[in-house]
This record gives sequence, structure tokens and C-alpha cells, in this order.
Amino acid sequence: MATMRKVVPRRLVGLATLRAVSTSSPMGTLPKQVKIVEVGPRDGLQNEKNIVPTAVKIKLIDMLSEAGLPVIEATSFVSPKWVPQMADHTEVLKGIRKFPGRNYPVLTPNLKGFESAVSKKLYSMGCYEISLGDTIGVGTPGAMKDMLSAVMREVPLAALAVHCHDTYGQALANTLMALQMGVSVVDASVAGLGGCPYAQGASGNLATEDLVYMLEGLGIHTGVNLQKLLEAGDFICQALNRKTGSKVAQATCKL
Ligand SMILES: [Zn+2]
Repeated sequence: MATMRKVVPRRLVGLATLRAVSTSSPMGTLPKQVKIVEVGPRDGLQNEKNIVPTAVKIKLIDMLSEAGLPVIEATSFVSPKWVPQMADHTEVLKGIRKFPGRNYPVLTPNLKGFESAVSKKLYSMGCYEISLGDTIGVGTPGAMKDMLSAVMREVPLAALAVHCHDTYGQALANTLMALQMGVSVVDASVAGLGGCPYAQGASGNLATEDLVYMLEGLGIHTGVNLQKLLEAGDFICQALNRKTGSKVAQATCKL
């Protein structure tokens, strides 16, 4: 599924299949700063079978704001008929605290999947950011490199983001490859919310805690407080009665 973050600013999340592998061309240098787009409250909770109370969603988003995340996908204006979990989108948007300087985009899933070849068209349509998603998590770093190389010929690097799932344990490696190629916007989901880790076709998102831990280790600035982020992850896992998908949270867990 491809999705567009509507409202201002517009952002597009697309599906690209990562299959090819190559080992050519040199690595770039890492960015000094990375903007993390937190997708847990939307991409993550949208996949929950049980309806999550509106108050829980609002508290989660507020905690993520407290943790310093610059962009938090708040909800989705999809029809409640298709995604009952997002039926309270208006209440959620009204209820959250809007921290100055932060973005709380919402999604409208209204586009079909697209190939990297059409990224240029999307960019010219006015999407300020195009998020290239390996939403089934099958890609490996070589494939990420090939796909980005192709897309970068059509779209400015500054307009690209990546969205990796950890189905095959490749999300951090794929993200690191994208960073080495100059991408500095990365989607991630607190506690790795999104998809069921035990079901077939599992597609858990890259956990924000794991991403922040890696970036801190690389000396890359994110503005995110890992401790507060871990608390937000702990809060939502308790509310959903599930285990965190974040390795960092598991490693630091006191339960
Ligand atoms: Zn996702």
C-alpha cells in the first residue's frame, strides 16, 4: 500500500520492491543529523486488531513529543469502514498537545503502490518528501543501494526518506545503507509497532528505540531523548499487553 501524508506538509509513502543486489560504487559519508519520522501511532496502531482507546493514543503521542521526536504521524483520515482503528482521527488530532516546531502529519491512503521510476512525478506533484518503503521487509542493503541510486537520479536527495521493516532482520542495515548514501530522514515506529511478529507475513516496523541507539552510537544528532522514548514504548506495550519489538527496550527492560 502506498500512502500520502496529507495536510501540510505533504508526504508520500510508497512501496518499492527491493530485490536486486550489487556491490559496486563507493559509500558516501554519514549525515550529521537525522530527522526521525515516528509512525507508531498511525502505521503501528492501524494494525492492531483491538480498538485502542483514544486517550491511550493521545497519551502515546504526547509522550513521543516529550521524547523530542520532530515528526509524529498522528492518525489517518481513512474511512472508518476500512480501518475502524482510525475512526477517532478528529478526536486524536484535537486532543494531542502540539509542541512548537514539531509536525503532526496525518495520512490519506489513496494512492496505489508505485515504482521508483515514478518518484520524479510525485516530487513534481508537490510532495515535499517521498518515503521509500520496504514495507514487507525483504530487502537487503545491496538492494537498498540499487533502489536509492536509481531514485536519486530523478529526485533530490533532500526529498527522500526511507521506511524499513524488520521482517528479515534487515531494517537497521538497510537504514544504515541509506544514511551512507546521504538520506537523512528515516521512518520508525516506537516499540516496533506495526504488523504481528508471530503471524505469517509479519512486517514489524524498524523500532525507533533501536534507530536512536544506533544513531547515538554514530554520533548523529536526532534531538530524541532515548530514555523518554523507552518510557513511551513501555507505556504503549503495557496498554496493548504485548512485548516490545525493540531490541534496545528488551535489553534495558527491568520487568
Ligand atoms: Zn511501516
